[in-house]
Amino acid sequence: MSGNPGINLSRKKDWDTYFMDIAYMASTRSQCPRRHVGAVLVQGKKLLGSAYNGAPMGVPDCYEAGCMLVEEYELQVIDGQETMLKKQRCIRTIHAEQNLLLFTDRNDRVGSTVYVTDQPCWTCANMLANSGIIEIVYHRAYPKDEGKVVALMEARGIVFRQIAQYAPPENTLMEVVN
Ligand SMILES: [Zn+2]
Ligand SMILES: [Zn+2]
Repeated sequence: MSGNPGINLSRKKDWDTYFMDIAYMASTRSQCPRRHVGAVLVQGKKLLGSAYNGAPMGVPDCYEAGCMLVEEYELQVIDGQETMLKKQRCIRTIHAEQNLLLFTDRNDRVGSTVYVTDQPCWTCANMLANSGIIEIVYHRAYPKDEGKVVALMEARGIVFRQIAQYAPPENTLMEVVN
């Protein structure tokens, strides 16, 4: 058994670790250097699909053509003060969750769980909410959209949980550029 000897792994945690590890493996195929995201679709304990963020097939990706950056303002609260911060975002790639939906059948998705390395952005959350899945498990937080995404999942009755006490497999973790 590998892992942390100090942590008592319940059976549930074992499956979470297993599928999140696969999501992180998928993320190593990501085509955008700013953020490597991987996602898998799981029905019961069966793996039904995996995906990562990348450009459409046959089109240059971020490593070949560079990121396609847009600038936008983001409201953040810093020391109790609301501040507008200018941020850059890459829009060249299809997000991992979106690719997962493109390459899986709706029949497989109904009642399934999505494991995704990063908390979904608003657009992906919106699509997942309408995809038939009933649970989303993620590792890294994405605070920008968290408030509205959590509210959406509550409204849809979709289980939305973070496995915070989790360490990705070695060599799968890449620094995130926000
Ligand atoms: Zn990019
Ligand atoms: Zn997204």
